[in-house]
Amino acid sequence: MSRNVLILPGDGIGPEIVAQAERVLASVNDRFQLGIDTDHALVGGSAIDADGVPLPEATLSKAKAADAILLGAVGGPKWDGLEMAKRPEKGLLGLRSELNLFGNLRPAILYPQLADASSLKPELVSGLDLLIVRELTGGIYFGQPRGIRELENGEREGFNTYVYSESEIRRIGRMAFDAARRRGGRLCSVDKANVLEVTVLWREIMNELAAEYPDVELSHMYVDNAAMQLVRAPKQFDVMVTGNMFGDILSDCAAMLTGSIGMLPSASLDENNKGMYEPIHGSAPDIAGQNLANPLATILSVAMMLRYSLDAAEAAEAIEAAVGQVLDQGLRTADIHADGKQKVTTEEMGDAVLAAL
Ligand code: ATP
Ligand code: MG
Repeated sequence: MSRNVLILPGDGIGPEIVAQAERVLASVNDRFQLGIDTDHALVGGSAIDADGVPLPEATLSKAKAADAILLGAVGGPKWDGLEMAKRPEKGLLGLRSELNLFGNLRPAILYPQLADASSLKPELVSGLDLLIVRELTGGIYFGQPRGIRELENGEREGFNTYVYSESEIRRIGRMAFDAARRRGGRLCSVDKANVLEVTVLWREIMNELAAEYPDVELSHMYVDNAAMQLVRAPKQFDVMVTGNMFGDILSDCAAMLTGSIGMLPSASLDENNKGMYEPIHGSAPDIAGQNLANPLATILSVAMMLRYSLDAAEAAEAIEAAVGQVLDQGLRTADIHADGKQKVTTEEMGDAVLAAL
């Protein structure tokens, strides 16, 4: 079976970190006989420079045809002056909506070798391995009506609409239950059902789904408590599922528990587990082109891609084990460097992962 992966290096450190991830993908493709073909396209600032738009038609049609997409990062100061609708970030948002990537999966894993980088005490986070499933294409970020309007008394008011249909809740719920089933079997649904009707419906649908997943243990938590519990005792969680805005906030919060923006991958999936995979960090213009960036978040994004979109869990595990090994060897890019460890470049880190594989 041949599978097609579209590679979108993007801007800033994107091309450097994606180059290392591609080497890793090629290596497991050979070793596990995965039959993966790769293709490349432009998105973001590099697409603006070449074609005048952040998401060219050619990129979009390749993305639609691909089984999975690996993205580096987009954006940078060069394009900051452009009006909102023409910015590099629009390329990313366009891909998410055109491909209907409604489910965002963000693992927060603390590698024991990096325990001292966490914002929490080592005993609270050692062994931390949680997954946040965030709804990405609905909720208050997209709800209509929205805007700023003038009232009769001459004062203005700003307004947004927090809306989820049953089917939107059900599909993100299923994605989360499926993920929980593959992991520790526990799912915590986060809402504000004591205040917001939309989340009363959310909770109802989650309970309905629970009947279909007797092997998954479902619990509910209000978002304020969930934020507190995340920084108090994060290891109580296995999988968390929540709406767009709550997920935005909670997933950044969970990322900090692992202390290392350069280590965290993410996936954005559609109904058929087709997905776009990218590191959670941005294009880091401050270190671009210097062979300094940590490629591990992108390499771990390849592992997620193999697991969720390409049905190659064994290859995913091999990559994750190789990343563990290079950390064991004491190799660190600048962002995760500590006393007594060996500082390496982007390329050297890629070399080490390949050798470990
Ligand atoms: P975005 O708006 O795209 O999320 P951002 O402004 O939030 O971008 P990042 O690009 O993620 O910021 O960079 C934040 C900081 O983290 C910068 O100092 C950057 O150099 C650093 N950083 C980000 N990614 C990496 C990486 N892979 N390796 C090393 N440092 C990184
Ligand atoms: Mg950011």
